[in-house]
Amino acid sequence: MNTYSRLPVTFTHGRGVTLWDTAGKEYLDALAGIAVSGLGHAHPDLVQAISEQAGRLIHTSNLYGVAEQESLATKLSQLSGLDEVFFCNSGAEANEAAIKLARLYGYKKTGLPGAKVIVMERAWHGRTIGTLAATGSEKARHGFEPLPDEGFIRVPYNNMAAIQAVADTQPEIQAVLLEVLQGEGGINIATEGYLKRLREFCTERGWLLMIDEVQSGIGRTGTWFGYQHAGIVPDVITLAKGLGSGVPIGACLAGGQAKGVMGPGNHGTTFGGGPLVSQAALTTLTVMERDALLANAAKVGGYLRAGLENDLCNVAGVVEIRGRGLMLGIELDRPCGELVKEALAAGLLINVTRDNVVRLLPPLILSIADANVLIARLVPLIKQFLSK
Ligand SMILES: *Cc1c(COP(=O)(O)O)cnc(C)c1O
Repeated sequence: MNTYSRLPVTFTHGRGVTLWDTAGKEYLDALAGIAVSGLGHAHPDLVQAISEQAGRLIHTSNLYGVAEQESLATKLSQLSGLDEVFFCNSGAEANEAAIKLARLYGYKKTGLPGAKVIVMERAWHGRTIGTLAATGSEKARHGFEPLPDEGFIRVPYNNMAAIQAVADTQPEIQAVLLEVLQGEGGINIATEGYLKRLREFCTERGWLLMIDEVQSGIGRTGTWFGYQHAGIVPDVITLAKGLGSGVPIGACLAGGQAKGVMGPGNHGTTFGGGPLVSQAALTTLTVMERDALLANAAKVGGYLRAGLENDLCNVAGVVEIRGRGLMLGIELDRPCGELVKEALAAGLLINVTRDNVVRLLPPLILSIADANVLIARLVPLIKQFLSK
C-alpha cells in the first residue's frame, strides 16, 4: 500500500552509524530508523546473539515457559523498578496494553465499565484505532473516525491546572497517559515540576500514571527511561523502538497501583516476547550497560546540542534547539520538510516532524567525531535553507 512517501534511496548494508546505498554512497545515520537502532548497524554482539538464537529456537508460544523472555523481563524490572512485563511487537501494541490495563483497573476498582484516560495535546501513541484516539495529531486521525474518543480526555501538555480542572468534573478518570519528551509532537519536554506534581496527584486520586517511553526510553535521553530525570516512578511504562535495536519488540511494564491487574486470559499476543526477539533485546541492554551507552548518549548528546547552539542560535529563522541526550529538535520558523532531501544528498539521514522541527535521533554509539561530522553536514544546509 502507498502508506509512505519514500525517499529515493535504498540501503544495502551498514556498520555502526554508517549506511551505504545501492550506488555505494555513504551516509551518516542521524535517525537510527526513528530511534530504533541504538547499537547502530550490524553490531557484532547483536549479530552473533541473533544468529546463535536462531540456530537454537526462534518461536514456541506464550503457552509455554520462554527462558529468554523471563531473563529480559527480570532485566527490565530491575532497570525500571516496575514488577510486571507484558511483551508485544510494537509501540502501538504496548500502548494498547496500557490502555486496556487502565480500563480493567477502573473496572476492578469501581465495578463499573467506562474508565477514562487523560491524554495530551500533540501526543503520539500509535496508529491502531485505539491508540489513534489517544494520539493528538489531527493529520493522523483524519478520515479514520469513528475513533473510540469517549475513552479519552485531552488536555494541554505541561499544564497541571488543566488536569485539576477535569479531575473535579470527570469521575470516570482512572489514568493519565503521556510522553515525558514528545517525539512526533515536536520534541517537547515535560518539566520536572509538572511530572513530580502529576505523580503526587495520580497517587492522591488513585489514578495510574502511564508513561509512553516508546521513543524516549532505552537510553535515548541519557537515562534508561526519560521519566528518571524527574526522579519519579510511574505505574505503567510502554517501550518499543530502541528495545530490540531493530528487531521488533514492544513491552508494557506495570508496577505500583497497576500491579496484579491483568490476569490469565485478559490479554495476549501470538508473537510477543518470543525467544529470538527477547534474546535481541537482552543483548541490546547488556551491550548498552557494558559499553556505558547511557553516559555516551548524555555526553555526545550534550556536545552535539552545544555545537548546534553555537552555530545556529544567532541565525535568523532558528526558533529553538531543544531535547535531551540524543533526542534533539531544531525548531525553525517555517516548514522545512525539503531539508530531509537536501541532507540525503549531503550524506546525512535526518527527519522533520510537525513540519518545522528538524529531528535528530542518532544511534546511541555516536562518537564525538561522528557528532562533528553531523554538525558539519547539517549546519550549512540549515543556514542556506533559511537564507533563501
Ligand atoms: C513510534 C511511537 C509509537 C508507536 O510505535 P509503533 O511501533 O510505530 O507502533 C508510540 N508512542 C511513541 C511515543 C512513539 O514515538
